[in-house]
Formats: sequence, structure tokens, C-alpha cells
Amino acid sequence: MLPTPAQYLLRIDDLCPTMAAGRWPALTSIIGEFRLRPILAVVPENRDPDLCRQNSDPHFWQEMRALQEQGATIALHGYTHLCASRGRSLVRLSRFSEFAGVCGGVQRNWIRRGVDRLRAEGLQPVAWVAPRHGFDRETIVALREEGIRVISDGLARRPFVREGMFWIPQQLWTPAERRRGVWTICIHPNTATVEDTGQLRAFVRAYADRFTCVEEILEKWDQRPLTFGERMCEGWALQRQCARQLRKRMRLPAGGSFR
Ligand SMILES: [Zn+2]
Repeated sequence: MLPTPAQYLLRIDDLCPTMAAGRWPALTSIIGEFRLRPILAVVPENRDPDLCRQNSDPHFWQEMRALQEQGATIALHGYTHLCASRGRSLVRLSRFSEFAGVCGGVQRNWIRRGVDRLRAEGLQPVAWVAPRHGFDRETIVALREEGIRVISDGLARRPFVREGMFWIPQQLWTPAERRRGVWTICIHPNTATVEDTGQLRAFVRAYADRFTCVEEILEKWDQRPLTFGERMCEGWALQRQCARQLRKRMRLPAGGSFR
């Protein structure tokens, strides 16, 4: 059964010391004011020039630790965030990936180093957020070896078990009201505008009591796979999202990108 009314989970992507500082205070203010417990997707060793928006912030890791203390869930967001592979992902939303298609030994090495880096900064990654949704079965093997069993990805309407992992779907890139299900809203602080954070604040204010967190989801949800009907709905949602991305890509200027 899908929860009615819908529940929401906030996820913030591309967090690293060189991310754009502009929108970050607005996001932490929303998290603090409404006591949200978001997923923080942290890049352990960023080498993606798109995420180098300013000089390295010396307070970044302390801020992440503080948010973790307040109940946020830390997610491993790839290793370097450089998406140079064109392998086939388990969630086919992008042609490029950091992980999908890369050999298992290299993936294990990257994930181990990424986890070690976050732990060295006092963060405990419990979830996986793949850059550009790109990961494969070798990634899952590597994540399991490091004790990570939660994936934030996919377009189903409820959390489920697949490939021995617990998936919490991420289906929204802007706040939107839904009737039933568990919906993760993903925000990118590097590209969020003043309007985007204003829209998020208004949405959270309206639905604050419906925001949940990974810990609560893990406690409440049965660890069961999607039914055949649910998998069909998931497939249609994936097709709709691909079509949406294609339309958006055609409107983007040269050099525009998704992550
Ligand atoms: Zn990313």
C-alpha cells in the first residue's frame, strides 16, 4: 500500500568544499527552520570542474558534520564526480556515468576510497547517490562490501528491495504535490536559483509534517520488491522522465548538461 497522503524526503546533491556558496545558506535555513532530515549527497574527492564554483570552503566538512548531528543522512555521491564512462546503468537516465561500465576492481577501489575519505572527515555514509544515476551491479557489490545498503534512486512510488539493496526512489527535481507514495525531491545548490529555494521553502512550509527521513523509512517499510504492476509503472515513469530530459536538452545552449 502506498502511504496516503504522500510523504516527502529532501535530497541535496553535489555537496563538496568548492560548491557554489550562493544558495547554500537558504537551504540550511530551510533545513533548520523546519527541522528537516535530508539526504546530503557528498562528493568525497571532487574533480568535476562543474562543481568547482569557488575556492575550497574551510568550514565545509564541519558544516556536514553538524547537519549529520542534527539527523541528516550522509550519502556517498560517487568518488570524483567525473562522468567519463558510457556504461549501461541500472537506472537509465543519462548516457554518461562515473561508475556504470567501469570494471569491478576499479569501482571497489573508488568506493572504498570515497567511504574512507568521508569517514576521515567524521561522516558516516549510509546511502548511495550515483552521479547522473549511473551505476551497475559491480557498483552494488562494492557498496555492499563497504556496508552501504541504501540507494537513493529510481522512479517507483515507494521504497523497495532490488539486487539485495534497499531503494528509496528519487523522482522529483522541483517540489510538487503528490497524492500517494514516498517522493524524494532533489535540489542542486550549484544551480538552484533564488526562485527555486523560495519555491522549496513555500512547499516545505505547506507540507512540513509530511517530510520524512531515511531512518524513519528504514523503520517503517517492509523490505519487499516491487510487484509486476509497480515495475510497469516504474518503467513508464522512466520513459516520461527520459522524454522530459530530451526536451530540456534540446532547449539547453551548447555545453549545457544534466547531473
Ligand atoms: Zn551530482
